[in-house]
Amino acid sequence: MNKRSKLIVCGIAVIAVLCMALPVLFHGTSNECKITSVSAADSRNHSVDTYTVEQDKKKCSVSFTDTAVIDTAFTAEVSTDEPYIIELTVRDSQLPEYREIKDENVAMNTAQTAAKYNADDSVMKRVVYPQNRQLHFLVTTQYKENVSGFIGYSSIKVIPVSKSKEYKLVTSPDKTVEFIIKADDFSKEETDKLSTWSEDLQLYRQQLYQLTGERQPYDGKTIFDFTEQIDYYGLAGNPIFMNSSNLTKDLSTDKSVCIWKYIHEMSHTFDGIEGSYIGNTWNFDSELFANLKMLYVMENNGLSFQDSSEKGADAYLKYSAGNTLKNGIYSSDGFLYLLICRLREVQPDYWNSLQAVFSNAHDSFNETESSTASERFINFFSLLHQELGVNILSAFSDAEKKAVINKYGNEITYLFD
Ligand SMILES: [Zn+2]
Repeated sequence: MNKRSKLIVCGIAVIAVLCMALPVLFHGTSNECKITSVSAADSRNHSVDTYTVEQDKKKCSVSFTDTAVIDTAFTAEVSTDEPYIIELTVRDSQLPEYREIKDENVAMNTAQTAAKYNADDSVMKRVVYPQNRQLHFLVTTQYKENVSGFIGYSSIKVIPVSKSKEYKLVTSPDKTVEFIIKADDFSKEETDKLSTWSEDLQLYRQQLYQLTGERQPYDGKTIFDFTEQIDYYGLAGNPIFMNSSNLTKDLSTDKSVCIWKYIHEMSHTFDGIEGSYIGNTWNFDSELFANLKMLYVMENNGLSFQDSSEKGADAYLKYSAGNTLKNGIYSSDGFLYLLICRLREVQPDYWNSLQAVFSNAHDSFNETESSTASERFINFFSLLHQELGVNILSAFSDAEKKAVINKYGNEITYLFD
């Protein structure tokens, strides 16, 4: 199952003060796509009696008894790597009134739910990205109490985005960065602006790639999906989900003070999150590393958080909450603040050392084994010590040391000696 089981929820609180048309149905005759399987299961391990795919009638129904949660998984084979739109029309006449259908592609692991579909003939539409020329799409249906009946879908369409008038792709020249938007959400001028943003983000992506040892997440492509309304500013993964209303605001702002949010999300994917095909070798704190690498790109390109002469790490030191660890309390931003201060004392141009650490981290760590946050912490700081020739942790105050050890455990204590 194509589960985005480890989405990273982005805290942009960081700096809170700132700122187809060829529908194909079951086993259709077209070469564009065919639905290869539909399976159903009840998440409480009750068996779902039967499911049938009525190919000739081009519809699908899932029959069940005594169950309140049913997951229906659709798999389709497609002929290209581009995103597709899946359109499910719900047909449901044999069930109690209350029901809630969730699209798990968006609602993974978050308390939020994606759009709910409560009426017959309601259409559920999602952009889905193929993996190895396969589309996976999971729908969960929940009822208030145990029920019997069936869920029916009167039509299932799979349409390439390039053949849709409703959606639009804006792709960078080298095709490593792609935005997917709803055409109605953006004017022609905004779309043109987005196109120049894609060129910038292509460059920023290249810099993240170089900084982290030349490994690319998600087969070398970063997709920003603006077609869903989510409760967070951004959800990093493949794709990165962000809200179109925020993008509209940002497009009317000076790019040099707002594009950091997009760099931040992209930066997450270079730390090795599930499905990114990058080992999670140093990532003991996702928000810390997303910001750290973001600052590298910001510094290289004269970017800031708001109109000010400070750029990159200078701007971070000015606008973040500062050293919160001095009070004995760990926070991602407080620790990053402290790290930058200590690095600067030891080596004004510390990015070369960080680049070496990131590159070596892949070789020094067994990426196939799962690791704990404290193991990654030790890996990162041991390599950093080697590169700098100085142990920056030994300069931490007692309160700062206590805050970090409380967070990562006694096994890291020796690193402060
Ligand atoms: Zn984040």
